[in-house]
Amino acid sequence: MSFSEKTKNELARLIPEARCCKIAELSAFYDFNGFLLGNNNYQYLDFYHSSPVVARKILLLLKGLVADIKTQVLVKRTKAKNHMCTVRVLDLVEAQFVYSLMKKRKFLDEQKRVPFFKCCRRSYLRGAFLSQGSIADPGKTYHFEISIENTEVAARVFETMNSLLLEPKIMMRKANHVIYLKDGEKIVEVLNNMGAHNALLKLENVRVIKDMRNQVNRLVNCETANVDKTVKAAMKQVAEIQKIEDTIGITKLPEKLQEIARLRLANPYASLKELGELADPPMSKSGVNYRMKQLLEIS
Ligand SMILES: [Zn+2]
Repeated sequence: MSFSEKTKNELARLIPEARCCKIAELSAFYDFNGFLLGNNNYQYLDFYHSSPVVARKILLLLKGLVADIKTQVLVKRTKAKNHMCTVRVLDLVEAQFVYSLMKKRKFLDEQKRVPFFKCCRRSYLRGAFLSQGSIADPGKTYHFEISIENTEVAARVFETMNSLLLEPKIMMRKANHVIYLKDGEKIVEVLNNMGAHNALLKLENVRVIKDMRNQVNRLVNCETANVDKTVKAAMKQVAEIQKIEDTIGITKLPEKLQEIARLRLANPYASLKELGELADPPMSKSGVNYRMKQLLEIS
């Protein structure tokens, strides 16, 4: 099962306690795939969803609002061997009542109908994600999105996320508005807002491992750079000493310089500190460095 499916399964089982949030989440399902159908004499309210787990959630939300609500659940198999579930509120009065609950709320943004309470905005977002959202496996990349063709609903989702400080971005993909997040930290926040705590833990674990890997890589690169520098300097010293040997001969040098020259030729990869330890008597790194400079000058 993909990370996206796991996250949705977790969220589909989460039923908000507060009545305001039940209405808010139901209104998201309505915005994405709900219809008030029929005429004045016969009206019913339909919610469509491809996932039976989400259909069950819609049913539970409805029952949380009207205890003995008369509903019908229809399951069809579609061509692609998927399910299409319909949750239908059968009774005209009940259908109109639930519809009016969704419309007569307090909105943060009256025009866009962004839910007023923070708890409800989170619930709305959860419903929107369950309707038409997806999240990439955090081990591969950070990507969260909700896509919708309806411009009004897209604006509502965008503003809802904005009001929760998620700083979403929006783009068009064919006819759909895609509201998305790319930042790992914001994706942690969106999961937290929706209440996907298991998914959040998994994502945090991946983030910790990624961070550690980056840190180790940085250290390794840093060390490699230092080693490269030491080796390059040593190679230059070997070449210069070789030049002295080929022209005047090392034996013509003062004794102290001869020693360092021989030690360097015998230990091309040793650091100056290590050469100092090999000398007899041992000398400090700065002592070796001083003699090495003299050698380079002579060469
Ligand atoms: Zn609420």
